[in-house]
Amino acid sequence: MRRKLVAGNWKMNGSADSIRKLLQGIRDGAAEVAAVELAVFPPAVYLGLVEQQLSGAAIAWGTQNLSEQASGAYTGEIAGSMLLDFHCAYVIVGHSERRTLYGETDDLVARKFAAARKLGIKPILCVGETLDEREQGVTEAVVGRQLKAVLDLEGVGVFSDAVIAYEPVWAIGTGRNATPQQAQDVHAFIRAQLAALDPSVAGQTRVLYGGSMKASNAGELLSMPDIDGGLVGGASLDAKDFLAIAKAGC
Ligand code: PEP
Repeated sequence: MRRKLVAGNWKMNGSADSIRKLLQGIRDGAAEVAAVELAVFPPAVYLGLVEQQLSGAAIAWGTQNLSEQASGAYTGEIAGSMLLDFHCAYVIVGHSERRTLYGETDDLVARKFAAARKLGIKPILCVGETLDEREQGVTEAVVGRQLKAVLDLEGVGVFSDAVIAYEPVWAIGTGRNATPQQAQDVHAFIRAQLAALDPSVAGQTRVLYGGSMKASNAGELLSMPDIDGGLVGGASLDAKDFLAIAKAGC
């Protein structure tokens, strides 16, 4: 049985003050949604604050990106070992905003995935097609290619512990979510790709849905057999909304 994971990607939002309030709100309601695992992904500069404020709470945290390099002359980058200093359990890799706005290729994303895993940080690998690609009927080809880059580098075994987030690019921040059936179809496809290599790993991998998930659509999405949680952007910036999504998964 896969425990659902509801993860909040805060992107480049917040301040020390607003993050303190948001974390307090999530902490206050976490016990009520204990059946679901919760994780938050603040901007990296707030990791110290997050670690301090979530101490003793059953809520995980991580960052939205990491460097594929271990250390050295890489101005502006953050190494996985630095995330370990703040006890990050997870890190998001290959978010579509990183792929499209910062030119991250499948190969680079795979190397970031490997860098995290090597240190024992669980990567959340984001995959997903653009609207154009969906309309051209190449959703599976795109998602399959993004997944294969990691499978080729790391093998299938790593997915017993890693997480995949299917995030159709056209649904991110647009208010337009995939229908539960559209999402389920791609999630089933992802699981089938893993199962072709190792059925037992495929049964353990959590595949999250991301793209305009909110309290009003989370119940239906999270009731689909291959949807094991959500990667939530906008709605994770409000503790009540975030917890309501988690509640829908309980
Ligand atoms: C995301 O950025 O990962 C995301 C899913 O955003 P939103 O929920 O705002 O669509």
